[in-house]
Amino acid sequence: MENLPNGFTGFANRPDGFESAGEASRRRRAAAAGGQAAPLHYAREAASSGRKERLPFQPVELEDGRPHESRMAWTQIDLSAIRYNVAQSRRFLQPRCRLMAVVKADAYGHGAVEVSKAAIGAGADRLAVSNVLEAVALRKAGITAPILVLSQPAKTSIPQLLGYNIIPSVYEPDFAVSYGEVADLHGMTAPYHLAVNTGMNRIGVRYDDVVEFLHQVSFHRALELEGVYTHYATADCAETLDLQIQTKRFIDALESINAAGFDPGVVHAANSAAAFRYPSVHFDMVRMGIALYGLHPCPETRNIVELMPAMSVHARICDARPLGVSEGVSYGLHYRSPGSVKICTIPIGYANGLRRGLSGNTDFIIGGRYVRQVGAICMDQCMFEVDMRRSAVRELIDPQPGDEVLVVGSQGIAEITIDEMAEKLSTVNYEIACGFSQQLPRVFV
Ligand SMILES: *Cc1c(COP(=O)(O)O)cnc(C)c1O
Repeated sequence: MENLPNGFTGFANRPDGFESAGEASRRRRAAAAGGQAAPLHYAREAASSGRKERLPFQPVELEDGRPHESRMAWTQIDLSAIRYNVAQSRRFLQPRCRLMAVVKADAYGHGAVEVSKAAIGAGADRLAVSNVLEAVALRKAGITAPILVLSQPAKTSIPQLLGYNIIPSVYEPDFAVSYGEVADLHGMTAPYHLAVNTGMNRIGVRYDDVVEFLHQVSFHRALELEGVYTHYATADCAETLDLQIQTKRFIDALESINAAGFDPGVVHAANSAAAFRYPSVHFDMVRMGIALYGLHPCPETRNIVELMPAMSVHARICDARPLGVSEGVSYGLHYRSPGSVKICTIPIGYANGLRRGLSGNTDFIIGGRYVRQVGAICMDQCMFEVDMRRSAVRELIDPQPGDEVLVVGSQGIAEITIDEMAEKLSTVNYEIACGFSQQLPRVFV
């Protein structure tokens, strides 16, 4: 066997006589250079002499390459699935109960503007986001539905709250007073929702301190209590006692608010899990996130409602090569070819949300058939194996560069779900869905 010019040692136990085309040409070049291993370089005619005059590129050719590259790896969001899931959720609500679509974190990685429009169009009444920036982006996109920020913003964003008609969650008197003062200065009212901590201990005024809070801020004429809400820590858990305790505390808080002569406005508590599992806690509005994306918050809801996943993840093969027996693949060469396989590369990796912890432990779908992801998942590429031994397989799939691969989604009877990825990684489907938004262009259908 020839000396390899670059000292590459990635080929283990190579069968005799195996030589790739690239190696053959390097060998020939080495021979031409006097029998010594020549340094790897390309002979470029243009480098020698007689350079042609440069032809400048057209501006359009230099534009951001993403529209062209976008079809190499992308997420596809099925807005009709969003509409279906809104309609499915609505069926569980009394006609007067409002539905707030939670579109925080760019709609769980699905695209907040498009999802918000689809959800509102399908019967959602309001929107919720996690911060003021997200809310402003929706307003700038022309969305006029009421928007609640699910946390108390910084005082510096009070002008944006008022200027863009965004409702904050409030739980500190100091913020409330500043908010009211700026509103007053501009001849406006300052609507807010009071966040009540009934046991999750994340944000909010303690359930037994709400009246004191209201007395502290009620002197301010511009402040307007538009709603009161709490959030459940265990709505997705099999156990139900803690949810009952939180509900009891919330109802106590509401009763004390009413008894003190305040109008709580729109009362809400339920997330997706609670909305499906506990109709008694719907109050005036439910806040639904995960279900609108077609993902179940917990196993229990699977028997209650049928949902349609909106996100699928796609990529096109950018490299495909047959690989001899025992050759390795990817960092660490942990995968070794059993022989007679084709290794294909797709341009998606952990920077795009395909978590490295799934290395060697997820399948992809090509032509309606499962193929096995092999080797370590890289930052923005990963590989899969196609077994070429079984003739049935060979006839049906012989993938080529440019062929489309499904990373998440279903094709025929084959299906790869965000849920199974989450389970393998001991995390929640929420996290996997959010992850796929990073660096991947989105296509809406
Ligand atoms: C994220 C969130 C929701 C939505 O929860 P899902 O489980 O996605 O339905 C509702 N309320 C609050 C306060 C949240 O932070």
